[in-house]
Amino acid sequence: MKILKAFRYRLEPTEEQARQLSRYRGCMRFVWNKALALQKGRVGAGYPLLSYGDLAKLLTLWRHSEEYAFLRHAPVHPLQWTLKFLMQSIHVAFDPTLALSNGTFVDAPGWFRRYEAKVAWEMRKLARMKKFSKNWREQVAKIQRLHAHIANARFDFLHKTSTAISKNHAMVFVEDLHVKNMSKSAKGTKENPGKKVRAKSGLNKAILDQGWSMFQTLLTYKLAWRGGYLKTLPAPYTSLTCPIPTCGHASKGNRITQADFTCEKCGYHANADTVGAMNVLRAGLARIACLPA
Ligand SMILES: [Zn+2]
Repeated sequence: MKILKAFRYRLEPTEEQARQLSRYRGCMRFVWNKALALQKGRVGAGYPLLSYGDLAKLLTLWRHSEEYAFLRHAPVHPLQWTLKFLMQSIHVAFDPTLALSNGTFVDAPGWFRRYEAKVAWEMRKLARMKKFSKNWREQVAKIQRLHAHIANARFDFLHKTSTAISKNHAMVFVEDLHVKNMSKSAKGTKENPGKKVRAKSGLNKAILDQGWSMFQTLLTYKLAWRGGYLKTLPAPYTSLTCPIPTCGHASKGNRITQADFTCEKCGYHANADTVGAMNVLRAGLARIACLPA
């Protein structure tokens, strides 16, 4: 079931009110651009992003400073809302972990791998049974129950995670996985997969893919409900590119192992998924130069 709620109002301000609103808008734009420049600079230098709380404290300082005294003419709440709107990025890795650009991770609960192993085990048992026998039928029913159980647990996990993220972030950038899938399938065709493609990783990916699109759906409507939004970006080579803007070196050699990123050129070192998230965020921030109005 899909419910969309929207209310539109037309304001008819007097001339004086219109002038005031325009001043407020100017203040919001100023706060947006200043905070955006600050965050861009931090991402560029390899620092974690400032939180909303940090930005709100800065806003208080600006409002009390001589230089930005004009900010005092606008009410504080729209300015805080502007900062809330300017938030952070999320990036999904291929294993069941979400890597956020601020260097934190959301781990899938332990049941994920346990169930994965259990499904594989029960499938092997099924393969040894005589087709359409009583045992075979019972085994099929057992596997179906297992899948239903996994689906429920996954739904619960994705609901909790998307709610938590939508509460803390107004703007979420997501890497378009389609791009990654294409680059993956280049190693082998569907009919003739490369030798490294194992049955297990196929299962893992199937479970994840379902979860991923559901996660995006949940997050999209939860963000919309709170006035934020989710944006999908094509972001190829995100985890092979050095996130330091003065460097930007892109090479497979930057990824010595699956988990680590070490730039061949400048030596910048970080978790590979965090680097991916930083690059997605940079691509996203580059697209929003000004407050959408
Ligand atoms: Zn570098």
